[in-house]
Amino acid sequence: MKSLEQVEQTHNEHIDQYIQHVFETVKKRNPHESEFHQAVKEVLDSLIPALVQNPHYINQAILERIVEPERVITFRVPWVDDQGHVQVNRGFRVQYNSAIGPYKGGIRFHPTVNASIIKFLGFEQIFKNALTGQPIGGGKGGADFDPKGKSDGEIMRFCQSFMSELSKHIGPDIDVPAGDIGVGAREVGYLFGQYKKIRGGFEAGVLTGKGIGYGGSLARKEATGYGTVYFVEEMLKDNDLCFKDSTVVVSGSGNVSIYAMEKAMELGANVVACSDSSGYIYDKKGINLNTVKRLKEVEHKRIHEYVKEHPDAIYTDDPSGIWSVPCDIALPCATQNEIDHHSAQILVSNGVKAIGEGANMPSTHEAINLFLKENILFAPGKAANAGGVSVSSLEMAQNSARLSWSFEEVNNRLHRIMKSIYRNSKDAAETYGAPGNLVVGANIAGFVRVADAMIEQGVI
Ligand code: GLU
Repeated sequence: MKSLEQVEQTHNEHIDQYIQHVFETVKKRNPHESEFHQAVKEVLDSLIPALVQNPHYINQAILERIVEPERVITFRVPWVDDQGHVQVNRGFRVQYNSAIGPYKGGIRFHPTVNASIIKFLGFEQIFKNALTGQPIGGGKGGADFDPKGKSDGEIMRFCQSFMSELSKHIGPDIDVPAGDIGVGAREVGYLFGQYKKIRGGFEAGVLTGKGIGYGGSLARKEATGYGTVYFVEEMLKDNDLCFKDSTVVVSGSGNVSIYAMEKAMELGANVVACSDSSGYIYDKKGINLNTVKRLKEVEHKRIHEYVKEHPDAIYTDDPSGIWSVPCDIALPCATQNEIDHHSAQILVSNGVKAIGEGANMPSTHEAINLFLKENILFAPGKAANAGGVSVSSLEMAQNSARLSWSFEEVNNRLHRIMKSIYRNSKDAAETYGAPGNLVVGANIAGFVRVADAMIEQGVI
């Protein structure tokens, strides 16, 4: 007779085989989409204990359903450049999962955008949004348009053309886009103006990240960066560590990075490096955030300009070199797969204590596995960067109620949400047999909320 342990092991092996089968189907259906495969694999690999405890998820084919987007829209975006030439880009919107609310997720304008990138981001968004506790489903969109070097008029015409098609598929109770890489307040403004013109009505809740003067929420701009630091602060506290007097490296110099640096500095950290897609700056005495804000938010310049004003700082022409700067806490806030195994090894050998992902999927599988193996505190993006979309949901709530909360009110709510995401991820990790592993905890906590809602709504 088999022992209970042997029975359990065989059972787990069957579940593992089932998960591998689901993953193989994803690969077959979506060939050559490596980022999408990576995001799906990370989630599926975490789910064995959740499926062991909830076998009805298997009977109800939740995995097979959750990996398949409800809808993928691909469209032509024609526009006229300043020379009078007609240009064509490709636009996307993935409406991934609406089990717990209208599709919600940003729009990315970047030349690397393709179906794989948008699907990986949309898939991540399902679980991230569920973790926030807010009533928002998962979606994502974008275009392979490169905003770099484009005039304001070109940006406006592109946004208008993009929205002419997108407007057919979105609405305050259907799908609510926002910003992401390459899409900030200016772009959201142009997108909103075009949507309003087409609809002939002021539907404030159709987009978030709007300007404060026409329905935007205070603290939305700061939310992702602040949220990442709030999350990491909880994780550090739990391990008798803190930001005060620590050395911090933050990649990127966009919206997420700037406000992660601001909050970390406020908590007493010395932030010594940040970057853009061309290179990084190292300022041993501490980055001057006012200079970075002016260069990036006002003058839209490259980060190497910083050293002209701060001659003690060093600029290096290699963005991934930033991970060789010794630090206690690293906050990758730039883009996907920016920390590979090699960079992770350098961080570990330089004594890093904690990683907090402000970007979406900034660490590769190999890098994450190394951090976990070396017992480095690791805050996964799905949980740690959920502050942006959380405040987007608060923006939707304010729009529905036709009122606006103070900065303090929104910031306090954000802080509470990030603490509860941390707690829920930590508790799920413990409940499902992986104490301290926030990757597993965040994936399971987000998954269970969506899976239960899908089951309650039947096979649709
Ligand atoms: N693009 C952000 C994210 O990755 C924000 C999305 C939103 O506010 O809808 O979560």
